[in-house]
Amino acid sequence: MHPSRRSVLTVPLAAALGAATLGGTSATASGAPQQSPVDIRTRDLVRGRRLPPLHVRYDHHAQVSLAYVTRDAGSPDGCLVRDVEETEQAGVEPGAGWVVVDDVRYDLLQTHFHTPSEHSVDGVRTPMEQHLVHSSADGRLLVLAVLLQEGSEGEADRLLSVLPDECEDPVPVTDVDLRAMLPRRLSAVRYAGSLTTAPYTEGVQWFVVGTQTVSAAGIERFREVFPEGDSRETQPLAGRRLVADPGAAAWLGDV
Ligand SMILES: [Zn+2]
Repeated sequence: MHPSRRSVLTVPLAAALGAATLGGTSATASGAPQQSPVDIRTRDLVRGRRLPPLHVRYDHHAQVSLAYVTRDAGSPDGCLVRDVEETEQAGVEPGAGWVVVDDVRYDLLQTHFHTPSEHSVDGVRTPMEQHLVHSSADGRLLVLAVLLQEGSEGEADRLLSVLPDECEDPVPVTDVDLRAMLPRRLSAVRYAGSLTTAPYTEGVQWFVVGTQTVSAAGIERFREVFPEGDSRETQPLAGRRLVADPGAAAWLGDV
């Protein structure tokens, strides 16, 4: 690790009056499901004011282990059958990345991909989505989501170029710039949701932080592994309100 070369990034806060809660949980009827992913309807977004900033500290030279996550290991043809809940996932070494929100540190555990994107913007999905999954010491989950668009090669291509097939050994990848997997400026859409695979645990803090590009070849390779996709359908908001950082409109308009 090279701590001196880590970047520290703070999302600026709007200092204006008025407060929106992080996930809009206060606006949710008690007992209503809070599942993910969701469609981000831009006209219904609540402009966030006085939101706790998202601090990101990600290693620029991380070592990860990329593995195919299987859900059907017990079945005789499990190595061949694609399950919508399977993915390619890179485990991250402890300490290689973390975020801080509201004075709580969430350590980066792993990052993985979906095709097409799980979150949509006004009904539009991008070719892929990357999730960076974090946990606090007491087990609270926080996910950064990046909508991937086809374009110039991105850091995610480092992983998409070496995808192991199901039941193959994990692939170590060195010198991964974790920070470069995120947009340079982080203006998030925030809400309270769930894991998008079983057991669909709720209480997950979601930060959809923007878009990044990956190569057409990278998207194609991932689609070769998951020709029918590995994304969950968008889920009802059920009274939740999505809160946007100032600046989120810029990338939302590009999707
Ligand atoms: Zn995911």
